[in-house]
Amino acid sequence: MDNLGNVKNQVVENIDLMNDELVNISEYIFANPELAFDEYKASTLLTDVLAKHGFQVEKGIAGLETAFKAVYHGQPGGPVIGLLAEYDALPEINHACGHNLIATIATGAALAISKVLKEQKGTLVVYGTPAEEGGGGKVIMVQEKCFRELDCAMMIHPADETIVDDISLANENLVFTFHGKAAHAAAFPHKGINALEGVIQTFNQINALRGHLPSDVRIHGIVTKGGVATNIVTELAEAKFSVRALKRKTLDEVLEKVYNCAKAAALATGSKLEIAKEGLGYDEIMNNNVLTSLLKANFLQLGEPVGERTIEQGLGSTDMGNVTQIVPGFQSYIGIGKGLATHTVEFANACTGSNGHQALLKAAKALAMTVIDLLENPQHLENAKKEFKEAKEA
Ligand SMILES: [Zn+2]
Ligand SMILES: [Zn+2]
Repeated sequence: MDNLGNVKNQVVENIDLMNDELVNISEYIFANPELAFDEYKASTLLTDVLAKHGFQVEKGIAGLETAFKAVYHGQPGGPVIGLLAEYDALPEINHACGHNLIATIATGAALAISKVLKEQKGTLVVYGTPAEEGGGGKVIMVQEKCFRELDCAMMIHPADETIVDDISLANENLVFTFHGKAAHAAAFPHKGINALEGVIQTFNQINALRGHLPSDVRIHGIVTKGGVATNIVTELAEAKFSVRALKRKTLDEVLEKVYNCAKAAALATGSKLEIAKEGLGYDEIMNNNVLTSLLKANFLQLGEPVGERTIEQGLGSTDMGNVTQIVPGFQSYIGIGKGLATHTVEFANACTGSNGHQALLKAAKALAMTVIDLLENPQHLENAKKEFKEAKEA
């Protein structure tokens, strides 16, 4: 136990020593916001830094130019521990989700651990994961067999308070296209087939269905094509829906019902229906309690209070969900200011300057300390894997 304390102290000290370098990384990414799949500056900087510190870097993995994998080997054997970095920004409001901090937290923790890894059994992997804000970079990477060699995958995201647990919704985006038949809407309405009615009836059917769905289900739609002129019976109409639920299993059941709503609308109106999925489906996040308990203890040891994740805080969806469904892992949160909401200008402002720096140092330290826990005591990962297996079988 004494040794554990010493090594933890050392990684914390390493992070303090790298303060300037880490602040520069965070500020550079913040000042150069790049959209999903276009994060060339961020991924170049991160891979340059990791390579400079002795990581073996592979760029453009999973067919994504801005994805990367950086590996550092300790003594042979031991676990393979993954830290994930996001670095994409949002249109117009730039780093309003603070992914500059996520990237720097992962990199900072990785560099600090690499300095002590020569005396430890194990391998450290940093995965650069593009396009969280739409695009589902991690879903593609999961499909392309990334992360599978990891014993665990961990990431820390900024939020209004520090929380180790997470809840997110499984999500699928649907496109319903109705094909009807144009006709003069006044002179020959009986010769037309109104595709717009297909869309309207789909909304009505789904609204009728809502009363009989589990309370965690969310269905939200928009009309994307509704016709071109009031005097022409609409030949082509289109609606898009997001369907979400706390569990993938529920989501898949609800999706079948939603498809039936659209099929019924097509049958009733005589229009032809095309059903397509848009983008990649997200699974719900499955944070591993063994791992998050370690992180929580480390945050507390650093004097950082840890709050609770509740449904009342509001739920979205993230591609980190798909990663936590294939290996034990977590997405946890570092607080950057009470009351701040992601995707706002205020949130972006809190992800830079001394506020952002304090947060990233604290999170990098807690994450690095957690990796030390895992390297020093193999029982933790055994327990994490047992929990993962049981959760998958449930
Ligand atoms: Zn976001
Ligand atoms: Zn985010």
